Amino acid sequence: MNPLNYDNDELIFLSEEKGSEIKTTSGFWNILVVDDDEEIHSVTRLALADLVVNDKGLKFFHAYSGEEALKMISEMGSSIAIILLDVVMETDDAGLRVARIMRSELGLEEPRIILRTGQPGYAPEEQVIKDYDINDYKTKTELTRSKLVTTIIASLRSYQQILSINQSRIGLQKIIISAANLMEEHSVKNFCEGVVTQISSLLGLEAGGVVCARAGSVLDREDDGVYILGAAGEFASYINERLESLHNAKIVSFVNRCLLLKQHIFEFDFSVLYLNSSGYEAAVFLQVGKEISTVNRQLLEVFLSSVSVGYENVYLFHQLRTAAFRDWLTKLPNRSEFINMLDEVGACKTEHKEQVVALIDISHFADINDGLGQDVGNTVLLAVAQRLESTLKEKVKLGRIGSDVFGVIGPEFFVNPGTLQELFISPFKAGEHTLPLGASFGLVRIANKVQTGINILKQSNIALNKAKKNSNTNFEYYEPEMEEQTTWRLDMIRQLSSDFAARKLQLWYQPQVDLVTEQVVGMEALLRWPSSNGGFISPEVFIPLAEYSGLIIDIGAWVLEESCQQLSVLATHGFDQLRMAVNISMPQFRDPAFIDTVKNVILSNGILPEKIELEITESIVMDEPQIVVQALHELKEFGVKVAIDDFGTGFSSMSYLQQLPLDRLKVDRSFVNEITPGKSAFIAETIVTLGNKLGLITIAEGVEKREQASYMLKLGCDEAQGYLFAKPMPFEQLLAFLIEHQASA
Ligand code: C2E
Ligand code: CA
Ligand code: CA
Repeated sequence: MNPLNYDNDELIFLSEEKGSEIKTTSGFWNILVVDDDEEIHSVTRLALADLVVNDKGLKFFHAYSGEEALKMISEMGSSIAIILLDVVMETDDAGLRVARIMRSELGLEEPRIILRTGQPGYAPEEQVIKDYDINDYKTKTELTRSKLVTTIIASLRSYQQILSINQSRIGLQKIIISAANLMEEHSVKNFCEGVVTQISSLLGLEAGGVVCARAGSVLDREDDGVYILGAAGEFASYINERLESLHNAKIVSFVNRCLLLKQHIFEFDFSVLYLNSSGYEAAVFLQVGKEISTVNRQLLEVFLSSVSVGYENVYLFHQLRTAAFRDWLTKLPNRSEFINMLDEVGACKTEHKEQVVALIDISHFADINDGLGQDVGNTVLLAVAQRLESTLKEKVKLGRIGSDVFGVIGPEFFVNPGTLQELFISPFKAGEHTLPLGASFGLVRIANKVQTGINILKQSNIALNKAKKNSNTNFEYYEPEMEEQTTWRLDMIRQLSSDFAARKLQLWYQPQVDLVTEQVVGMEALLRWPSSNGGFISPEVFIPLAEYSGLIIDIGAWVLEESCQQLSVLATHGFDQLRMAVNISMPQFRDPAFIDTVKNVILSNGILPEKIELEITESIVMDEPQIVVQALHELKEFGVKVAIDDFGTGFSSMSYLQQLPLDRLKVDRSFVNEITPGKSAFIAETIVTLGNKLGLITIAEGVEKREQASYMLKLGCDEAQGYLFAKPMPFEQLLAFLIEHQASA
């Protein structure tokens, strides 16, 4: 190999190109020539010197060994269009090694490879050609100019195709990721803002545009105007305003037209995209300075179809959340939301210092309800809410905690017995009635230590109860001495522990029925703790204690064992199709042995995993999502079913909900309870709709009345559980019940 064979040009060329700036020049096709014989390099350059393909000339890069080639390939990546690769260089298969490393280790798919060898007799095996995706194979003697040109043109064509396929694949990946990102947003506003931002990034534009939705799809809006739900860029400040407030005739008319025609509008300098998912419509206006290409339009269609589903879920979720945190009568925050507000106060930020929480309980409210009727009762409550709002608004936070109990959070200056008593001096108007009202007040000064909202509420309740018993004053501040709870708790835990060890706990079963056929399809196992007076201590009382003390891990394992065993007994009586639902608490998930315990119990009782359903509450998921999500996935893989319990009360985030491998949503009984003749039950309805959208089976809890069952059935709810069908019962009774009701077992 004689370096003098290089002409000067080529030397300069090489040293230039070998620098750090090896990059595609968009006006050229990059061709890498790999050969240890420099004559081949110059012959190739000569032969292809003036070739122009698709308006682009060729630019040559040169390597003289496999090693050197690999170095250049890893630097240049997919900007190399073609590699003309000698097989035999420093070793007999140095070229093949380059091909292998580049395809499998560097993962480079786009550059085309043309193999060349000096020995006519030698041809690589077919398998090699397939494995390394080699375009062509030529012996060096075949390297006439015309043959080389034909090969190069064909290879450039396929390089171009592969490149564009890969590019749109990247686009699709981006779409999937951005659709998933949007699911993380739980508010419609964020979601809509996200849609604009994601679309802009897909198209490589600056975010700027408006998302609009038809009214009627927004809670509490009865007119049919078009509102701006989300926006980015210059229009961001118009969120929640009417579309007309933009004062932009073009946007207004094209958004309206888009919603009317129900289709995308692509114009030269802007686009309006139409979003629809079973009735929830939106139009996305995009200020695009250029026309959107066909490829990008297709990408947008894909994006929009995945986003529509998300839009609807987020929308339903949002509605549910709003409804679940607001009192239906006064529109004040309800108990759940008030607890959230207290959580914030209890988080002990300095701004909350010296805050006071007060509960206001209207005296003798039940008498008003009974004597004057529920409608007057409701009007009275509204009047109280109104006075609280008009007198204290902007200085305090308000909520309705129970039927006749209001909550106030604010600085001591406003929230003190004096100002609260003043509120009740003048009588309240309720329709034609003018009623004087009395009230009791339980107050808590927020201590400068971190505490939960629930705890603050509990303290104010203790104070309120004491105030109600007072004969001379109507208020009371909470004092820690008021709590005798702790000793009571310890006693209970001790008793529970010894009763469990003495095998005194029982497991009862409540049938679950198919709402259409009313046949029993399964049952829920519920713990019972007999008390010394012949009754039972409510699980609502002792389960929290068992969780707090860690006893729930052993008790829970026993519940699983017992329920599996009884399920196999049921099978011997011919009831082999029934499902058993078992409640699981958070401490069980934290137990490292939990997953194995579940599997072993199921296997050792010879039960099909799919017959066992684990019930978890939403709050559990929020507690430690990672642990729960992972454990559930593993158990789900094993075959067990998963139900989310008390759905609608905890409000985990949409994204966690979607990460969970769920089978069933249990509509909490408080929502089923709202179903009374002639009234719609908005939350129950929304939950069933959401469940259907997410592809989950829904079951209504606490169904006590026939009309509740038929209402739920009409909504499309699948199953039910409640006193109407059967109360929880010991195993022997369950067996008798099944034999009586399920003749066709
Ligand atoms: P849950 O899981 O929501 O169970 C349903 C509760 O509703 C049961 O109360 C049941 O007796 C009651 N119920 C069923 N139908 C009706 C109805 O038509 N009307 C009314 N008003 N109530 C109805 P229970 O048995 O007192 O259990 C209370 C809670 O204790 C359960 O709520 C569950 O969270 C917990 N629990 C019970 N057993 C276990 C257990 O083995 N492990 C764990 N971790 N928790 C349990
Ligand atoms: Ca349950
Ligand atoms: Ca429940």
